[in-house]
Amino acid sequence: MKITILGCYAATPRTLTNPTSQVLEICNRIFLIDCAEGTQVQLRKNKIRFSQINHVFISHLHGDHFYGLVGLISTFMLLNRQTDLHIHGPKGIKEIILLQLKYSNSYTGYNLFFHELTSTESEIIFEDDKVIVRTIPLKHRIYTNGFLFEEKPKERKLNVEAVEKYSIDKCYYQNIKNGKDIILDNGKTISNKELTFDPLPPKKYAYCSDTMYNEEMIPLINEVDALYHEATFLETETEKANKTMHSTALEAATIAKLAKAKQLILGHYSTRYENIEMFKTEAEEVFSNILLADDGKIIELE
Ligand SMILES: [Zn+2]
Ligand SMILES: [Zn+2]
Repeated sequence: MKITILGCYAATPRTLTNPTSQVLEICNRIFLIDCAEGTQVQLRKNKIRFSQINHVFISHLHGDHFYGLVGLISTFMLLNRQTDLHIHGPKGIKEIILLQLKYSNSYTGYNLFFHELTSTESEIIFEDDKVIVRTIPLKHRIYTNGFLFEEKPKERKLNVEAVEKYSIDKCYYQNIKNGKDIILDNGKTISNKELTFDPLPPKKYAYCSDTMYNEEMIPLINEVDALYHEATFLETETEKANKTMHSTALEAATIAKLAKAKQLILGHYSTRYENIEMFKTEAEEVFSNILLADDGKIIELE
């Protein structure tokens, strides 16, 4: 699993920093998470092929999370995209995008599917044979969801030495990888344990931006491999954080600690701060494995 941070600052685009957008590569799927202004340029800079993006997940309808979406849709059109594009986001997103396309007399040559979200309970919004995506209801000034991206359990790894020892035909390999025992021609049963190794445990990534401190999310993100949690402010601006329904670095770290996350990634920093290291220092008061997101940073979850 690989996360590329395209932008991780709050509010406005600046010369060297971008508002929120990330690319998640999971089991050979490429998901775009939020799509602020500048996302297209950041995708180019990070050499992510536009044609590989088939699913976009939008957390909420504040501009610093989706004002780049209509531009991206329009570029896909100019590039003569043919593949379907799925957009998962709050109710209203379809109307906004279609209105913009309508008044610019633009129509996509590819199918645009909107999956509008309204539930305040966590729900599955994407599932295929390898990956499952759930919403994480967040508390912010408008309707907002985080997303939990989860790999499905992988197939078992073949113990080549063992299958060769018993002269098992290749046509049984897939059954073995699926966990089945094998009965040899002489009637003897060979248990799957003898023929396979445990696969790598499936990985989980939780994306939570924007939100105020909210312990209700903890059962959903329990023991995730990485938690991206917004930290717009430091504790010195607690009042501002409460008023704008954002979190401080210390609050983000407290959520990571309570959820027993393996790693915390901080982002969505207010542009008022000159030095983002202060976010790490503050968060380390309660949680130790912290990474500061920054534009262009690549985070591999091994
Ligand atoms: Zn924001
Ligand atoms: Zn917001």
